[in-house]
Amino acid sequence: MKRLIRISAYAVGVLAVCAAIAAWQFRPPAPLKPAATEFVLREVTLINPGRSREAHKILGVRGDRIAAIAEGVNAPGGDAADLAAYRGMYVLPGLIDMHTHLPPGNPLKLTSYFMLLNIAHGVTTVRDAADLDGTALAARAQAERDGYPGPRTFYCNAFVSAGPPEWANEITLRAPEDAEIAVQKLKAGGASCVKAYDGLTLPLLDTLRRAADRNGLALIGHVPDVLSYEEALLPDVQHMMGIAPRMPGGHLMLSDGWDRVDDARLRQIVGVTLQHHMANTPTLVIGQQVLLLESYERNKDAPQVALAPRMYRDAVWNPDGGLWKYRGMTSEDFARLRTAQEKKLRLARMLFEAGAQLYLGTDTQQPFVIAGQALQQEMRLFAKAGIPIEATWEIGTRQSAAALGIPQGGTIEVGAPADLLIFREDPTKSLDALDSLQAVVLQGRLYTRESLDAKVREYQAHFNGFVFDRLSTVLAKAALRKAIH
Ligand SMILES: [Zn+2]
Repeated sequence: MKRLIRISAYAVGVLAVCAAIAAWQFRPPAPLKPAATEFVLREVTLINPGRSREAHKILGVRGDRIAAIAEGVNAPGGDAADLAAYRGMYVLPGLIDMHTHLPPGNPLKLTSYFMLLNIAHGVTTVRDAADLDGTALAARAQAERDGYPGPRTFYCNAFVSAGPPEWANEITLRAPEDAEIAVQKLKAGGASCVKAYDGLTLPLLDTLRRAADRNGLALIGHVPDVLSYEEALLPDVQHMMGIAPRMPGGHLMLSDGWDRVDDARLRQIVGVTLQHHMANTPTLVIGQQVLLLESYERNKDAPQVALAPRMYRDAVWNPDGGLWKYRGMTSEDFARLRTAQEKKLRLARMLFEAGAQLYLGTDTQQPFVIAGQALQQEMRLFAKAGIPIEATWEIGTRQSAAALGIPQGGTIEVGAPADLLIFREDPTKSLDALDSLQAVVLQGRLYTRESLDAKVREYQAHFNGFVFDRLSTVLAKAALRKAIH
């Protein structure tokens, strides 16, 4: 008996030491520090996408705001730092991702890295389109308290659905009167949007819509699986859902039924969208990136996805055993997805040309969809669809900020939030110039490209550490099971 107690005590001790080592190994790198806080940029071109382009300007930042805009190079800047390195460059408002998902809060502590990736790619504001397991937003808040910089975050918090829940963090409506309670609960928790989800019938969705309106929250969402686009009439449709006919037994939301969508149907969608002033956040990047699963073994180690820790590439996105929606896709599935993707690009262009509102969104954590990087990919897909680059910038800045209700958001004018991007080349002329990003100003704090890149490399070294690399894959599988109801 004594011997057993001794062995147990020993085992507990070993476990405690292992846990301490793991916790130490999972501690993320120290927060990135800004290079400047109060500063003046001289001889820069200020671009308000779709509105104005003014060369030879001086721009002053104080606190988290644009404090001054003046002519020429010699205007006094007070005691603010004069950042000569950026003379001759282009200043634009920061980008907004209207559909993202922060990682779950767990011992892997990935939140600060997701925040960093967004900044490093010029994304200064995100809308979190629901917290999968209900731990992500608390982890986001904690990372901020720990001093990690991150984009302004607006969020829907929980999914609102009817019927069997898919995610751990889902509010299920059983009767229309549940809608008001649900929305008030979301609002009390700081949410600014309501994410409609599967199973909502028309009466439930209608009361949810009225409850969201009454409480001043935006209704966005999946067109519930039991309704069509024109039945649901969601104010901001995500992922171009509800357009293709419902396919009983279908499993790939991205392509099911799209082989039956013809140009007449696309025109009909444009008509409904205009008539009801609906917006679309198409998240075209998901389709493009899911297609990489067709050659999964080759693509999981490709340089373009190297920013994702190995546990995502090896476990979460693994077609055998990762996200259940993408398991076992056949070559016919990929062919259908390719066709669906072409039609969605065509629809995006038709919606744009008809004057309908579009937004840039990514759905981070879907296969090979990486925070920050995916928003730039979505911009390139808008360009591929035939939407002019400057219009895409306008969508991704001022128009999104207006939808989120940020006063003067997405503009470069005195008093506006100092969320700015500094490029060596003009990214409204060619999206290749996105690579010439030199600095990101986040709420008045300037981070240089070098420091952002160095910090990303520091995280990559952290993820590649022996203990993190081995344990994270196991923990990622557990987190996947936890997020799914
Ligand atoms: Zn999503």
